Amino acid sequence: MKAAVLREVGKPLQIEQVQIDKPGPHEVLIRTAAAGLCHSDLHFMQGSYPHPLPAVLGHESSGVVEQVGSEVHTVKPGDHVITCLSAFCGHCEFCLTGHMSLCVSPETKRGKDDPPRLSAEGGMMQYLNLSSFAEQMLIHEHACVAIRPDMPLDRAALIGCSVTTGVGAAIHTSNVRPGETVAVIGCGGVGLSAINGAAIAGASRIFAIDTVPSKGNLAMEFGATDFINAADVDAVKEVIEATKGGVHHAFEAIGLAKTAEQAFNMLRRGGTANIIGMIPVGQMVSVMGAAFLGEKKLQGSLMGSNRFPVDMPRFVDFYMSGKLKLDQMISQRIKLEQVNEGFEDMKRGELARSVIVFDA
Ligand code: ZN
Ligand code: ZN
Repeated sequence: MKAAVLREVGKPLQIEQVQIDKPGPHEVLIRTAAAGLCHSDLHFMQGSYPHPLPAVLGHESSGVVEQVGSEVHTVKPGDHVITCLSAFCGHCEFCLTGHMSLCVSPETKRGKDDPPRLSAEGGMMQYLNLSSFAEQMLIHEHACVAIRPDMPLDRAALIGCSVTTGVGAAIHTSNVRPGETVAVIGCGGVGLSAINGAAIAGASRIFAIDTVPSKGNLAMEFGATDFINAADVDAVKEVIEATKGGVHHAFEAIGLAKTAEQAFNMLRRGGTANIIGMIPVGQMVSVMGAAFLGEKKLQGSLMGSNRFPVDMPRFVDFYMSGKLKLDQMISQRIKLEQVNEGFEDMKRGELARSVIVFDA
């Protein structure tokens, strides 16, 4: 099968032929329908997060089940599925206490002595349990969930990472309640989804903050009530003034130490700052210690603290009923061969999201 491979940090992906194995007892073979280009892929391509190479990148995807292992009972051939990198085992401490998105059990991967799921000359690594920039995926059954067949698969793919990450940060990690106030720094796919999640949760005011003015209208379509162009004004000061003391919930969706500090600094007493963006390994975040006397909280949010087999079908229903905005998030549909151009567009920061659509 064709796949987009990262061989060297800082270099473009290469389209190569990669072999894929047959499903083991708990595995699912999926024909990839669509795969979104996510900013975290770029972090690995640029080396701000390490990954063993060569690897097939991509982790935001949807597809159709082709074949399942002998012990798989959750999906069957023909099912439409969304994948999730939060593969879970179902019986570790994290899974059993309701934090399955924190599970890192090695059971969801193949053992060292087993044949690899992906192979090529010189070896090939699977990435984040998925490797979606490929015509097929071979994954653990607990890394995908079946969805209703009338859901368009290109939009379903977005639910696989950015939408779950953003919406989940609002409704799960920070638990936004009706009437509370929210600020979101960064209006890419994840930030727009956090805005959308806060709107679904009933937030009264939602401040969208970005340095690209064209993001303002887009943010409003996702449910923002105010747009702050941080290139022109001090976003922290603006938010504190407009809310008379700060917001209940702030979300950082870029991955910079500076904006993480801003998210914390724009909280009201008792407020919670959620860091969703991937801050490069080794960078520190510093905040004023005295602020903790106001019970302000600073916390990470990974993949929207998801329970994805429950969440994703619900998000699909939200889309089908018009509450979840996905059409506006796709700025272009591309072919696998155009993956590098898609990442170049992402670096320019204007587009919300490129989605690779595979031939049916
Ligand atoms: Zn992602
Ligand atoms: Zn587990």
